[in-house]
Amino acid sequence: MSFSSDVKEELAEVIPQARHCRIAEIASIMHFSGQIGVDGHGEITVGFNTSGSSLIKKGFTLLEITFNIGKSLKSTDPEFESLLDLVGDGSDPVSGLILKNACCKRAFLRGAFLASGSLSDPDKGYHLEFICPSEALADQVTQVCADFEINARKTERRGELIVYVKEGEMIGELLNVMGAMNSYMDFENCRIYKDVSNTVNRRVNCETSNIRKTVTAASRQLEDIRFLEEHGMLDGLPAPLREAAYGRLENPDATLQELGEMMDPPVGKSGINHRLARLSKLAQEKRK
Ligand SMILES: [Zn+2]
Repeated sequence: MSFSSDVKEELAEVIPQARHCRIAEIASIMHFSGQIGVDGHGEITVGFNTSGSSLIKKGFTLLEITFNIGKSLKSTDPEFESLLDLVGDGSDPVSGLILKNACCKRAFLRGAFLASGSLSDPDKGYHLEFICPSEALADQVTQVCADFEINARKTERRGELIVYVKEGEMIGELLNVMGAMNSYMDFENCRIYKDVSNTVNRRVNCETSNIRKTVTAASRQLEDIRFLEEHGMLDGLPAPLREAAYGRLENPDATLQELGEMMDPPVGKSGINHRLARLSKLAQEKRK
């Protein structure tokens, strides 16, 4: 199961208590994927253009408890009128009157996601989108997201209108707004884990590369000093350089500070570094 279908399954189980919210959600579902027709016997057919069984189940449940629309419906039935009023001609956005309350805006987004939304697995990347059947609906989804301070953007892909959210934090917030609480927790856990392990990885990489640099510098110096020794050059050096060279040969793992303290008289880090650099330079000149 994908993360996206987990979210939809969870959202399908959320049945709003308040009638206003149910109306908002069914209006949203009908706008995004509802189909109304008349069959050969003059009966009205209501359907949903989807392959998702959770949407179909939820759609019919909402129709039944909100408008008492069950199995059979005639075009003269008053329930049909209310449904048509709600849906409009399909190119309109959902009526603003239905979406006045924050609770109803949440229901609108929930319906829209169930009907047309998808979401990538959070461990792969952050992308949530709605495929919108009209410009008006795309603008409406963007606006309702903005009402919850969620930054959604509109684009076109292969002739389809897409409203999408890219930032992990905003996607988490949208799951929360739609009422997918379990998915929200899973998503946030994954996001936090990812952020933390990215930071840790960065730090480890950084430290490893610093250590590598130190090791490389120390082993190069040691090589240079051994080279001088092999060519019988150490004993002819001025005392401070000779002392530093033997100090390093005898203590290959000592830090610069430790090595400095072994000198007589002791010198600081930069003092010992200077001596070692001069030894390396002598070795380089001899190699030429
Ligand atoms: Zn409401």
